[in-house]
Amino acid sequence: MGTQAVELYREIPNNLRNHVSQICVLNECSHVGLLHEARTIFNEISSKTESTITTMADCLSRLFMFDEAQKLIEDYEKTNTPSIVMYMFLLSGARNNRNSNLSEQIYKQMKTLFPNVKESLAAGVVLLSNIYSSLGKHEEAKTFRSNQIEELGVKVKVGLSWTEIKGHIVHLKAHDYSHPQSTEIYAKIDRLQSKAIENGFIFDSSSMARSLNENETIESVLCDHSELLVIALNLIQEPAPKFIQAVKNLRVCGHCHEFTKVIAKIELCDIVVRDANRIHHFYPNGQCSCQDHF
Ligand SMILES: [Zn+2]
Ligand SMILES: [Zn+2]
Repeated sequence: MGTQAVELYREIPNNLRNHVSQICVLNECSHVGLLHEARTIFNEISSKTESTITTMADCLSRLFMFDEAQKLIEDYEKTNTPSIVMYMFLLSGARNNRNSNLSEQIYKQMKTLFPNVKESLAAGVVLLSNIYSSLGKHEEAKTFRSNQIEELGVKVKVGLSWTEIKGHIVHLKAHDYSHPQSTEIYAKIDRLQSKAIENGFIFDSSSMARSLNENETIESVLCDHSELLVIALNLIQEPAPKFIQAVKNLRVCGHCHEFTKVIAKIELCDIVVRDANRIHHFYPNGQCSCQDHF
């Protein structure tokens, strides 16, 4: 609700606006792509904090305005110690833009500036290897990922999703076959895929994070992420719910986001997924509350 957020912010008297309200409104602009409003508000802020600058850098990166975002970061670093969060946002924008050169450059800078922030560097490695995969370079992605993770000596966070089924919390990971109803879960996903294809949905191989093994299809690899499994688990319950809630510990990927929009439409169901970054409300009309800015 970016426009409403900006209007509300404008109603706050000047002397009552603080860095919290500034971050909120800039973040809102960032997530719905209101560049002009974000710039205007940002320029009005007299004392900019690390968080306000980070949020503005995120906004610019999401819109692929990397030169301006980098300039902002450079200016900040003239008088402050570098902040890894700013670089993560840059990298995330470069990933969305499938810009491997820029991503490599940002990751190198991160390694030089923050050699000890290993968890964030590992997240950076995953982002970069996903870019290689999205360009079809699955071998390069795999080698880069395993070499860098080994060098950092950290464990990559496993993607998990949670949901509530008949009063019990269930959690599943990607490619999970541990649930007693897993045969039905995967059968449901197969049916959803067929219906999605009938409705013109295209399974985009550039979203794949790895190459195909024997007996796998693009559809099967794309559709076994944990959030899709818990959504399917909800849908095989009797009666099937019209409102589904799930939580994921990582950010939802581009494919799962597109596919969940289609599922909500096919099943005429509201689906709310809270990921590591935000809440997505998928409506039965096939749209998401984030308007694809995530
Ligand atoms: Zn996914
Ligand atoms: Zn969304």
